[in-house]
Amino acid sequence: MKHLWQHCHAATMKAGRYSIIEDAAIITEGERIVWIGPRSELPERPLQSTDLGGAWVTPGFIDCHTHLVFGGDRSGEFEQRLNGVSYAEIAAAGGGIASTVRATREASEEELLASAIKRARPLLADGVTVLEVKSGYGLDLDSERRMLRVARRLEQELPVTVRTTCLSAHALPPEYAGRADEYIERVCHHILPALAEEGLVDAVDAFCEHLAFSPAQVERVFQTAQRLGLPVKLHAEQLSSLHGSSLAARYGALSADHLEFMDESDAIAMAEAGTVAVLLPGAFFVLRETQLPPMDALRKHGVNIAIASDLNPGTSPALSLRLMLNMACTAFRLTPEEALAGVTLNAARALGMADSHGSLEAGKVADFIAWDIQRPAELAYWLGGDLPKRIIRHGEEL
Ligand SMILES: [Zn+2]
Repeated sequence: MKHLWQHCHAATMKAGRYSIIEDAAIITEGERIVWIGPRSELPERPLQSTDLGGAWVTPGFIDCHTHLVFGGDRSGEFEQRLNGVSYAEIAAAGGGIASTVRATREASEEELLASAIKRARPLLADGVTVLEVKSGYGLDLDSERRMLRVARRLEQELPVTVRTTCLSAHALPPEYAGRADEYIERVCHHILPALAEEGLVDAVDAFCEHLAFSPAQVERVFQTAQRLGLPVKLHAEQLSSLHGSSLAARYGALSADHLEFMDESDAIAMAEAGTVAVLLPGAFFVLRETQLPPMDALRKHGVNIAIASDLNPGTSPALSLRLMLNMACTAFRLTPEEALAGVTLNAARALGMADSHGSLEAGKVADFIAWDIQRPAELAYWLGGDLPKRIIRHGEEL
């Protein structure tokens, strides 16, 4: 049954621009958009229709980088640090990422699911219809599997499409202290192949940094992913320049993420490979970073830019993707149009799903938001909060 959505303006985000249609109409059939254009050019009038009351329609938001599934949280450490306890003291007492690994390993699948749902709800209420979720706090086969199973189950529990990423090369588990190469061997020969075989992995990620894994170690993970037929992504250039983003580009990565310390040579490599630059202003803010990603180089070479929450317990406990839009504009000087492309078409590209998601075009999945706003820039203008909206997912209003 076809359905007509009308009395709206559309920022379709086609080609990563606003691509505005004033007084637009959208025809959906089942979960797909079958026609979109000016209402005056409607090719037919389906019997069923919805009046959107002059709203601005955008594609559903895509949060393409989250660590949404984890045990415990680090609000206690947050308070300790602000009361003058140093990060070194907290780490020596078993805090930091080690405490999240411990809490995640101890949590049951049901406990992980319940807490993940609590964090996913505010993102969804903010207009998110597609969510990427990474493993990487389990760091052993059973715990990584549990995290990815929970990520998959979110799709049954909530109105959201989930893409899973195996990030077993996130940090060195305590039992492998001083034996990083051995742990990478374990990831490549045991953890990744097993999880891929179980159908739990849509993409493979790693953390390339002095305090995590070297480019040579990351490359072994990428070679394993390649052998398994899985696309790769990389946490790169967050705290220093190791040219992980160029390495990612050499492997045709979907995205390289963070990137504050990348340089122009990395931008050239990424542009040639079509690797998306995923910027994460939440972590930049929480860590009080000062090094800005090289926006001019990214623009000059035409690298597609996405924005994500990086929702995680340590460096970005962000529950609003719209707040990230504002922070990307304010801190990184993105335009509101670039920021909106960053959570729609370019975020879809970063997940390898731009053929079906990320813009309002005939043939794509009918995930869209009808916002009660005066112009699209408002989406990046307000600092969080709950903007009035109607959410349409797979052609049905939620
Ligand atoms: Zn991350």
